[in-house]
Amino acid sequence: MNSKKDLLIIGGGPAGISAAIWAKRLGLNHLLLEEKKDLGGQLNTIYNQIVDYPGIIAPNGKYLKKQFKKHADEIKFEYALNSPVKSINWEKKILKTSADHTYEFRALLIATGSSPRKLDVPGEQEMIDQNEVYSATRDKGKFINKNVAVIGGGDRAFEGALLLAEAGAKVTLIHRSTHFKARQEFKDPVLEHENITILTETIVNQIEGKGKALSLSSKGLSKTIEVEGIFIRIGVQPNTNPYRQGIEMDQEGYIKCNAFGETSLPYVYAAGDVCTRPLLSSIASSVGQGMTSIKQLSFFLEN
Ligand SMILES: Cc1cc2nc3c(=O)[nH]c(=O)nc-3n(C[C@H](O)[C@H](O)[C@H](O)COP(=O)(O)OP(=O)(O)OC[C@H]3O[C@@H](n4cnc5c(N)ncnc54)[C@H](O)[C@@H]3O)c2cc1C
Repeated sequence: MNSKKDLLIIGGGPAGISAAIWAKRLGLNHLLLEEKKDLGGQLNTIYNQIVDYPGIIAPNGKYLKKQFKKHADEIKFEYALNSPVKSINWEKKILKTSADHTYEFRALLIATGSSPRKLDVPGEQEMIDQNEVYSATRDKGKFINKNVAVIGGGDRAFEGALLLAEAGAKVTLIHRSTHFKARQEFKDPVLEHENITILTETIVNQIEGKGKALSLSSKGLSKTIEVEGIFIRIGVQPNTNPYRQGIEMDQEGYIKCNAFGETSLPYVYAAGDVCTRPLLSSIASSVGQGMTSIKQLSFFLEN
């Protein structure tokens, strides 16, 4: 099927939703494409309370998503779910989704967010496919008196290790170097916790048994540890696969753009986590960037 739109927004997380609200408000001929079966993006995976988005203290991400969706349905912006963008022909301004739709566009906003970084080791995908993927906040009760492994040395690894240890799990924290990026407020309690063992300068070579064992190596020695749950917390990566060629990105794959969201192509804008590193990314900044880029884009579309 072929359609024509002035503006396509890719991604239905906070940045894309905010952008679509503004597209509707400004009367732009638009469509938001979301690959999943629902809007919300990372809000669907937040199990902690959200206390830093103005106007609402949400008990979790799904609650906030419901408010966003209510807003979307009331304002009636155009969106299509189950529509993963697969390829873009930049010169012809044609986009294809795997739902076998082809769209012609005049302008594009990329708001595809970010995903947890993977270890890229054998056995990892089998573990994910088996749904052996846990949230420390949501699942900590399942691991009381059980062995778990947390991999990483940043805030999310340390916070997760602490939550699990406090709940009674026996945590092995595995990190590839001796330097931890985690904030001091997490560092001290983790380093001192009796339920947490720390393995530094240790590399994960393989995940075995769909998430029930880890094969490790450290300073030339190898060993396997058995666990009930594995928490990979080694950061995030921007979701930029379909656009690897065509627009400028930095070394880690974040789309390069200015404060208005303008990228290296005049008709392509970016907003949210896809162009913002974790230190500065948030629901509030994504929503703000979505709005700014659509306002700026509307001037481009007027000409
Ligand atoms: C566990 C956790 C806790 C967090 N807690 C907080 C918090 O308390 N406060 C806070 O401010 N922030 C928090 N964040 C961060 C916040 O959720 C993100 O900064 C925000 O969701 C980014 O919004 P976004 O729209 O840029 O991207 P995302 O939310 O990642 O949305 C991107 C959307 O694009 C879609 N997409 C990707 N590729 C394609 C494609 N090829 N085709 C079509 N669609 C595609 C995805 O399916 C997704 O729906 C948390 C994040 C996590 C994971």
